[in-house]
Amino acid sequence: MIHARMAARSEAEDDLGNVRRRAHRDARRCVDHLTQAMAMKFTFLGTGCPVASPMRAGPAHLVTGSRARLLIDCGAGVSQRLVAAGERGADIDALIVTHYHSDHVVDFYQLLVSSWHQGRARPFVVHAPANVISHMRHILEAYADERELRIAHERRPSSLGLEVEFHELAEGRAIRLGDLEAEPFSVDHRPVKPAFGLVLRQGKTRVVFSGDTRPVPALVEAARGAELLVCEVFVDREMMPTQGVRSAETIAAVRSYHLTPRQIAKIARDAGVMALALTHFVPPNADRSALVAEIRKGFRGPVIVGEDLMSIDPALRTLSFANLHLAY
Ligand SMILES: [Zn+2]
Ligand SMILES: [Zn+2]
Repeated sequence: MIHARMAARSEAEDDLGNVRRRAHRDARRCVDHLTQAMAMKFTFLGTGCPVASPMRAGPAHLVTGSRARLLIDCGAGVSQRLVAAGERGADIDALIVTHYHSDHVVDFYQLLVSSWHQGRARPFVVHAPANVISHMRHILEAYADERELRIAHERRPSSLGLEVEFHELAEGRAIRLGDLEAEPFSVDHRPVKPAFGLVLRQGKTRVVFSGDTRPVPALVEAARGAELLVCEVFVDREMMPTQGVRSAETIAAVRSYHLTPRQIAKIARDAGVMALALTHFVPPNADRSALVAEIRKGFRGPVIVGEDLMSIDPALRTLSFANLHLAY
């Protein structure tokens, strides 16, 4: 009798232990999932192009993991937009420049100096194609005397923040920063060569960034099933020949190495992405609702018109912009 009672009690204890263990394991999984899901964030810093616009700064995007900050391109206004986003150039772990077009690299020197003024005390790590590295070295050389004067006169604690470490960007050579990985793939932006898109990964979450390109199968392949595809857009419908500014020939030439809304919709549909976001707007003041309507004809998933200082959590499928916070 006593034995039976003890056995029953110990069975009950075992059950309780199992329940506790299971609850603990489930909670742990939930926390792991949340930590992982909340960790990757894609922020639009500059969604413009060479055309000057107060609303859309030059091309720049920030990807943050739980322990790393990766900047993609450094167009005009990037330092200011970083501060506006609550970030600092001083904290960037690596910069990737996707191709040799001035709007993607023009503010590097300003970013370098402003990051140093924020207390950066480690070299800036840059991954870029060889022709971009050569250009950046020339810029650094042109300003060498200016830096020397600053270092001697300003007497900041460290001058390491003004040093730059270059790595050549190559297809398939992944860049790993903590739990974040960026893998470049070749796109077609000829006559600009080379040009890269990026697969950004953290855990199971995948964001694909088109870079500047015309339609290429590699973009569809890279984006297949991705949580988020971020595409450049050339809104051809809004580009009219304008006396003294652009001819029909100019428009055809520019369109030929970018992506039109119809092409983007097809790429997003063929790749079966979970969501599509647009950036690098040409023209920067393109009509947003007309653009969404045009894309909608070819792609039924969520379409996000990127704005400077908008952030997306691709795993949780949430978006923040000013006072707007939504799950899509
Ligand atoms: Zn370009
Ligand atoms: Zn561009």
